[in-house]
Amino acid sequence: MVEPVRVLYIGGVGRSGSTVLSRALGELPGFFHVGELVFLWSRGATRNELCGCGARFLDCPFWSDVGKRAFGGWEAAEPARVTALQHAVDRTRYLPRLLTPDPGRDFRLRLGELTALLGRLYTAIQEVSGCAVVVDSSKHVSYAATLRRVPSVDLRLLHVTRDSRGVAHSWAKKVKRPEVVDQDAYMANIPVPRLAARWSAFNGLFDVLRLVHRNALGLRYERFVADPAAALTRVAALAGRELKPGDLDFVQEAGLRLSAEHSVSGNPMRFTNGPVPLRVDDAWRSAMPPGDRAVVTALTAPGMLRYGYRLRGRTTR
Ligand SMILES: [Zn+2]
Repeated sequence: MVEPVRVLYIGGVGRSGSTVLSRALGELPGFFHVGELVFLWSRGATRNELCGCGARFLDCPFWSDVGKRAFGGWEAAEPARVTALQHAVDRTRYLPRLLTPDPGRDFRLRLGELTALLGRLYTAIQEVSGCAVVVDSSKHVSYAATLRRVPSVDLRLLHVTRDSRGVAHSWAKKVKRPEVVDQDAYMANIPVPRLAARWSAFNGLFDVLRLVHRNALGLRYERFVADPAAALTRVAALAGRELKPGDLDFVQEAGLRLSAEHSVSGNPMRFTNGPVPLRVDDAWRSAMPPGDRAVVTALTAPGMLRYGYRLRGRTTR
């Protein structure tokens, strides 16, 4: 019997601080952060965007080895076909089917094809990296539900939340995507009311997933910033790893010391190495128009209270 690959999955709404948290986890001995693997087929193997190491995906030695070992090369895996298969299986609207034991014949066949590919991919990542835990910051709830169906994956689920006002403010900013080198590309913007609905829906779906998945944990980004060592110790335990003295030396008074890594996709901060300040970006408190703030607070209030956030004032409960 081959041991399944332990995958620590970072789930939640985009711009919740998941990239810096995942990079911190990637600094722990035995952990290897691969970025948002859900985008490997489209942004990596097809569009050849930049890996976190600075090389283009198809030129990165790490991902070249993984592709060869898993499929005999990325071209042989037919990335466009896998992307189409993802669209036919891994979508929020298919979550009920992904969670039910019998999703119907056609869906089961497509799911089986995708999970077989993913099983080979994660096994190759573990073999090439030599690490016990693969940290995947894909965030999507349907991709987490898909990974649960991969027999050779032992999924550990971390659900990260951040104050909805901070998330909404971040989605309103214009941010360039440095990994796209052939043209100017920007991170998506989402208007406040739609973002508030998305925050509530996606976090609510992760709450559902945490009810059915045994190895799961919730973490507020703000709590990670306040005490990174304590948060990382808890998350390492979720992945079945006990930290030793010295494992957290990269956690420093002013922030984190981060090294370059082979991440497929994520927030542009994935290209910043060395000392990285760690703070709760609460610019929304002064910069967000009061009307927007009232709308997002009202629309996300039930979830905010559920995760222990205050709707007024400065700190979390
Ligand atoms: Zn790389």
